[in-house]
Amino acid sequence: MNSSHVRPETMSKTEDRKTTEEFRNSCRTEFMAPPYSGKAHVAFLIVFCSSGIVLSLLNVQNLKQFEWLTVPISFLYSNLVEYLAHRYPMHHRWKVISIAYDRHTGLHHRFFTHEKMNIDQWKEVRAILFPASLVILFFGIFLLPVLWGLSVLVSTNVAWLFSATAFAYYFLYEALHLTYHLNLPGVECLRLLHRIHHNPRLMRQVNFNITFPICDWVFETYSKSREPDSV
Ligand SMILES: [Zn+2]
Ligand SMILES: [Zn+2]
Repeated sequence: MNSSHVRPETMSKTEDRKTTEEFRNSCRTEFMAPPYSGKAHVAFLIVFCSSGIVLSLLNVQNLKQFEWLTVPISFLYSNLVEYLAHRYPMHHRWKVISIAYDRHTGLHHRFFTHEKMNIDQWKEVRAILFPASLVILFFGIFLLPVLWGLSVLVSTNVAWLFSATAFAYYFLYEALHLTYHLNLPGVECLRLLHRIHHNPRLMRQVNFNITFPICDWVFETYSKSREPDSV
């Protein structure tokens, strides 16, 4: 998980002329080289999310019936956050959080195209999962103020249920995204949607939900067609 010498943001500027295969090879030998470990990165994801879920649920006490509503509402809210973050900062360079664009459009979409979706080696998960440091930072910046607000304005149980759902949703997001690029069975429909999104001509137009295409359906960016011209 430690940064290695070449970072994707510098790579995208200096290696623009490289073909996809040359880009993939240079990532493998530099950006994904040891001390980075793909297995350690996946282990971090599992430990971070399961700790977050368990610690949040341990704080829930004397739950009232209406407080259960927090779970479906938080799920839909997370689906909206996933959609907006992917559609805008991850596909349009915004100065304040340009790292989101560099990691997603500059690295992930360049490493995996609709013609070459599969992971060949463990270390390639570095082109899929968010970096551990960024995950911790984002959860700190975005989750803590919401938890504080919910505990003050509604109840502590609602705050902790929101927290548990947020950790679970984030795990679902990364796990499903990995599943698509590992070509594992059982999620063919969702994988097809994501593969269409990986077409460079479509990546700013359709299928921004990585998990369930609820917001894609609401905002009319859902597409099951394969050809850019038919969108
Ligand atoms: Zn992807
Ligand atoms: Zn994308």
